[in-house]
Amino acid sequence: EIKGLHFGNFYLQHSQPTDTALIYHDTTITYGELDRSIRQYATYLQQNGIQAGDIVALSCYNTPEFIYSYFAITRLGAIVVPLNLTLTMEEITYIIRNASTKAMFVHENILAKLHATPEQLKVALGLENVFVINPDTTATIAALEPVEMMEMNPDSTSTLLYTSGTTGKPKGAMLSHKNLMANTASCNRMLKLNSNDTFMCVLPMFHTFGFTTSVLLPLYAGAAIVIHEAFHPKEIMQSLVQNRVTVFCGVPAMYVVLAQALRSGNAEFPDLRLAVCGGSPMPVEVLNLFNRQYNIPLVEGYGLTEASPVVSLNPLDGEKKPGSIGKPLPGVEVRIVDEKGNELAENQDGELLVKGPNVMQGYYNMPEATAETIVDGWLHTGDIAYKDHEGYIFIVDRKKDMIITRGLNVYPREIEEILYRHPGVLEAAVIGVPDAVKGEVVKAFIVPKEGETLDRRMILDFLKPHLANYKMPRFVEITDSLPKNATGKVMKKALRNLPH
Ligand code: ATP
Repeated sequence: EIKGLHFGNFYLQHSQPTDTALIYHDTTITYGELDRSIRQYATYLQQNGIQAGDIVALSCYNTPEFIYSYFAITRLGAIVVPLNLTLTMEEITYIIRNASTKAMFVHENILAKLHATPEQLKVALGLENVFVINPDTTATIAALEPVEMMEMNPDSTSTLLYTSGTTGKPKGAMLSHKNLMANTASCNRMLKLNSNDTFMCVLPMFHTFGFTTSVLLPLYAGAAIVIHEAFHPKEIMQSLVQNRVTVFCGVPAMYVVLAQALRSGNAEFPDLRLAVCGGSPMPVEVLNLFNRQYNIPLVEGYGLTEASPVVSLNPLDGEKKPGSIGKPLPGVEVRIVDEKGNELAENQDGELLVKGPNVMQGYYNMPEATAETIVDGWLHTGDIAYKDHEGYIFIVDRKKDMIITRGLNVYPREIEEILYRHPGVLEAAVIGVPDAVKGEVVKAFIVPKEGETLDRRMILDFLKPHLANYKMPRFVEITDSLPKNATGKVMKKALRNLPH
């Protein structure tokens, strides 16, 4: 299916040059124009000394230029390092140096935010070249001859995606052309996408979830992408209607907001035929609203950067089990094992391991971390899961988020799921906090729905009938919002770092 095509040009597969590829504010860009721009960006890179095997960082907002730069780099056989836009200069420096980066594409506004000139950035980061994405560069590039198609080794690395992972410094997951192509093709098959679809891209493009589900997938299917820089609920809801968006991919926090709008009768999305969620656990309560009450198929999936990223999805037509991340994608195998690596029976909790063409090549320049993470071809996800009798997988929680109180294991997710059933709760997050006697005790953070008043007693009374005593929160904090990362996932680490 992917013969002759590589990650640098596969968007040509199911599209016609006159089809709409990108919609950005009032601009519409066709596939023909997209292809030309990518090839002109590639010429620009070539003229500036970039060749196959070079490593080029990319720091840019969700814009067409992000897509041009990304594919121009990979099309030359060079390797792209998308940078998280929330990183500090210190974190960027670490990644740039760790990845032996040669050059960098940076949006002019990001440069301004870093208070640096291109020259200063070049020196500070030890780069040979800094390409600033601004109107001048764009005009220069628009006058260049596009590069020609070229052959590519599908096993060469196309992308280095840095993830903070479970411990220590960020690690660069090396994803090959084949890794990303295989994953995109399998997702496309499961989700039955086609060139009439219009996707919304609101997840950050620099993150694996956003780039795969909201850029690669639609381009693979020949669909259109409506590009937004961030999740501003009003603007997004308007755009969903105006642009007749058919597919929306988001993290649970976004669905919480959309569900609230649907519930209050303030919104309607008549063209939306598919919603995909992942990245963190989707509260069953919210999932059911979409699937049962509003008739919008909401498909929960699961993945991680190291798996390009999608591992499993609920079936589009078959049974979607609430609380489950579905079944593995075609070609992907999973195992659930105990601490000793023995495979567990149905309904038993253990670590989820993944094998398949989507599993990364390893962490860049980190042989030890790679050897710990990929053992005999099996990727250790750090997530605790179980399988039911029909092979549906359920994520219990992240290993690192598990709370141990009086020697007993408590999974925050179990408590969060109950909290989401409370009619006054908008969002909930549960963590463990240190305790001199018990090791850790449970703490719950609650964001009430607008106009609702909640207190500790009300929350505890609500939980009591559902939870054994040792799982009951010792502390309950009512708050206005939860700290989220750039993708929109709740940052449990930030909650744990708060004074308790
Ligand atoms: P960082 O890069 O900051 O370390 P991260 O650890 O979240 O972020 P990602 O690769 O973005 O790294 O996320 C992968 C993790 O997200 C998975 O290992 C899993 O814990 C969680 N996850 C993804 N989808 C789901 C889901 N549907 N349900 C529960 N957890 C999920």
